[in-house]
Amino acid sequence: MAVNLDRFPRQQLGFFPTPIQILPRLSRELGIEVWAKRDDIGSGLAFGGNKTRKLEWLIPDALAQGCDTLVSIGGVQSNHTRQVAAAAAATGLKCRLAQEHWAPWEEPVYDKVGNILLSRLMGARTEMTSTPAGEGFAVDLEGSLQETADRVRLEGGAPYVIPAGASDHPLGGLGYVEFANEVERQEADLDVFFDTVVTATGTGSTQAGMVVGFAGQERPREVIGIDTLADPDETRRLVTKIARATADLVQSRKPIDDEAIIVDGRFAGPAYGVPNDGTIEAIRMGAELEAMITDPVYEGKSLAGLIAMARSGEIPRGSRVLYVHLGGVPALDAYYRAFD
Ligand SMILES: *Cc1c(COP(=O)(O)O)cnc(C)c1O
Repeated sequence: MAVNLDRFPRQQLGFFPTPIQILPRLSRELGIEVWAKRDDIGSGLAFGGNKTRKLEWLIPDALAQGCDTLVSIGGVQSNHTRQVAAAAAATGLKCRLAQEHWAPWEEPVYDKVGNILLSRLMGARTEMTSTPAGEGFAVDLEGSLQETADRVRLEGGAPYVIPAGASDHPLGGLGYVEFANEVERQEADLDVFFDTVVTATGTGSTQAGMVVGFAGQERPREVIGIDTLADPDETRRLVTKIARATADLVQSRKPIDDEAIIVDGRFAGPAYGVPNDGTIEAIRMGAELEAMITDPVYEGKSLAGLIAMARSGEIPRGSRVLYVHLGGVPALDAYYRAFD
């Protein structure tokens, strides 16, 4: 049974349902059946991605509170802050973004192209924070975020504060609860069942929402989160916290067991925002076999995890796997050197 979300207001920002496609050439290569859920292309807003699905449930709250400025935080090449900028532009709100140097990636155009360029084009004010490069991914950057909100208030604005990844927010898990409902409906249409779902995981509410949504359904399946923070214990803590809070919010009858939260840390190294050899190989395989483009920060790592687990037999032959593509391609140009 699908989790009922009728009592939560939703502002449409994307085109849903997003398509599910089989990846025939990658499937043949790996000996499992791989399908992709294309949340990377499901949005009319500035290239979309998973934050668009989440923000649909936060925007009505911002409007109900009478806020006029969305305030958020992310890395310099954050897909999240670009999607906040898009949501603000599309709903007539202002946007102020704190951009942190989380990823230790030195590149003269890193803060000029890709996501940050798009955010600026959409009218967002982007403010570089002074955190030194390579401090790693820090979700709990209450400091920078609150300071940014304070500056909006000083200027007479009414900020609506959205944490990193729109994750650690009371409504942050709802988008991917609805995602699980959407997948169940598409499975009925396609007459298939995905026993394994592979997703990138970072600030946590994507995986957390899925776990809550899928837990409410009849047939059990495994959701494998591939860590991208290079800090799997912290990632698991975030996913677990958000999953439990979201389960309470939607009044789920199923408790979220620790075993339901699978976070695999093997594919994230050497650091958040920095690809490894497996990441680059996976990006090339997705592109050459399926013309499916992935990025070095998130989806290249989750695809590398899927490929490695299929090759090792951890995902057994004959499995039917749903690879969830959450976006991220706008960051690719900032990483051109990784493909030289
Ligand atoms: C944010 C993001 C993720 C991680 O999602 P979380 O909800 O933060 O765990 C994965 N892929 C892409 C492209 C993202 O932008």
